[in-house]
Amino acid sequence: MVPGAEVARVVVAFEDDAADLAVLHQHGLIDAQIDPAVFSARCLNGLFEQGPDVWRTIRRALQELLASPQGLPRGGLVARSSLDMLLPVAIGDFVDGYGGLHHATNMGRILRPDSPALLPNWRHLAYHGRAGTVVRSGSGIVRPRGQIVVDGAPSFEPTRRLDMELEVGCVVGVGSELGVPVDIEDVADHVFGLVLVNDWSARDIQAFEYQPLGPFLGKSFATSISSWVVSLDALEPYLVPGLVATQDPPPSPYLRSALPAVPDLHLEVLLQTRAMVSAGTPALVISRVEFAEAMYWSMAQQVAHATANGAGTRPGDLFGSGTASGADARRQAGSFMELTWDGTRPLELPNGERRCFLEDGDTLVMQGWCGSEDNGVPMVSFGDVIGSIVPARQN
Ligand code: CA
Repeated sequence: MVPGAEVARVVVAFEDDAADLAVLHQHGLIDAQIDPAVFSARCLNGLFEQGPDVWRTIRRALQELLASPQGLPRGGLVARSSLDMLLPVAIGDFVDGYGGLHHATNMGRILRPDSPALLPNWRHLAYHGRAGTVVRSGSGIVRPRGQIVVDGAPSFEPTRRLDMELEVGCVVGVGSELGVPVDIEDVADHVFGLVLVNDWSARDIQAFEYQPLGPFLGKSFATSISSWVVSLDALEPYLVPGLVATQDPPPSPYLRSALPAVPDLHLEVLLQTRAMVSAGTPALVISRVEFAEAMYWSMAQQVAHATANGAGTRPGDLFGSGTASGADARRQAGSFMELTWDGTRPLELPNGERRCFLEDGDTLVMQGWCGSEDNGVPMVSFGDVIGSIVPARQN
């Protein structure tokens, strides 16, 4: 919400400000035949449905306008700090991926120590999980209850192993028809952009329920996404081949693209406990992950795979990448499960606190950006994903 505006607005981040598309369109500065209601909306779905040509027309207009922002009409630029951000997408379906090589290997080692870490099918298809509940950054996360095994028997109680999952989500702009698979080379015509994702997980609930059909209630209680959606066009200069280019064996033809590419995205996770807040201690970086070195499967492959059987997609559908972890689980993990190796080597915080999993009052912040100020490559920052753990409900 923009201060003083009676309806929500579609805004585009520009440095510390945001361009109000409703105001710019009202002044005739965006030369696109669009219903003004698209820019005065509580979510971006109306904009998604306009399609890539309109997205690019708006992007070009903004690039020209923001080259001399002092000429913008009153209200055309507002301070980002003054905004009340909303969930940016009316989510259609949320499909959770499992495309991170190091994460999938670590989870296999922890959960199935007597079997090969990666199951044989993992390198052949971009595995996906279930739908879930998506909330905006800043929402409190209530510790979920579920069946966990206590003394050898299932007991319904609050999770004792509440975890994060550091992911990147791909948001569908233009849906695809039921019965018609999306060709891997056409995925960019359907995807609007990317968000950061924290796919909260309850590991003890997950451990009891996940075989044979995969996670359900251990995952579906909450998934937080950033309030800003970064368009694919903005990420185009930062695409790299990454780990995806090393796929062995080569995937099926429908999963092959001429130029495999993932954003060269730097990710960080920060933790601030309640005691740190009380002491005025800032959030501490507990993990750093290079997304392109973490993901074995690309988002284009995920969308191509999910629609290969003719399943359709809709504007606002969200595909999570799967947890992004680097090779060093102690410093580059996208989950506490890996950072603390199933709770066997707790995270030691500078104030003497220890963490195996998340405790009530803990706040997690996920951040991501492409480019680097050091070598003069312009930066594209993703919005933070923030979530604080709220105690379980009593009933
Ligand atoms: Ca996940």
